[in-house]
Amino acid sequence: MNSSPSPRTADPPRPGPRASLQGLCPRCEEMFLYPVGAAPGKALECPHCHLTFQQSGEPEDPEAPVESCWVCGNEEFYEQKDFNRELGFMIVLISGLLVFLLMLLVNALVGILCLLGIALLDWVVYRMLTDVTVCYLCQSIYRGFPPSPRKRNFYLGYEEKYKTLRQSWLKQVLPEPEKKA
Ligand SMILES: [Zn+2]
Ligand SMILES: [Zn+2]
Repeated sequence: MNSSPSPRTADPPRPGPRASLQGLCPRCEEMFLYPVGAAPGKALECPHCHLTFQQSGEPEDPEAPVESCWVCGNEEFYEQKDFNRELGFMIVLISGLLVFLLMLLVNALVGILCLLGIALLDWVVYRMLTDVTVCYLCQSIYRGFPPSPRKRNFYLGYEEKYKTLRQSWLKQVLPEPEKKA
C-alpha cells in the first residue's frame, strides 16, 4: 500500500537567520559568503584579498526582498532557482546514459519507464529548489531572502547594458596599484 497524503500547503518564503550573500571578488576571483548580520553598517570586504567594496553595506531590513545590492549598490536583480548548472548537466548526462544502457541491455520499455521516473524526479526536485536573487551588475547571489512581489525574471536584454556598467563598476571598485608612500 502506498497512500502518502499530499498536503497542499503553500510554503511561505521564510527569510531571516539563514539568509546570506554569495559574492565573487572581482580582484582575486574567489567566492565569498556573508551571513546576514556579520558586519552590520560596515563596508563589505573580500575575506581573501581584503578588497573593500565602496558603496557597500548590509540592508536595514534583512526580512525584506533585496532592493539594493550590498556589494555594488545596484538596484536591478533577477530571481532564479538555486541550482548548480554544472551539477544539473552531470545529472542529465548520467541519467541519459543510464536510460540508454537500460534500453540496450534490458529492453526499451524499462528504459522508457526509467526516463519517465527521472522526469518526475526532476520536476519534484525543481519544485523543491528555493529562489535566489541575483544582482545584474556584480552577480552576487542572495539566498534566504523573500522574492520581490513584482516578478523579476532574467532579462537577456540587460546583458549588453550591464557589460558596460560592469566595466565602470570594476574601475571604481578596483583601486589603482598603490604606490608606497
Ligand atoms: Zn578578493
Ligand atoms: Zn551587485
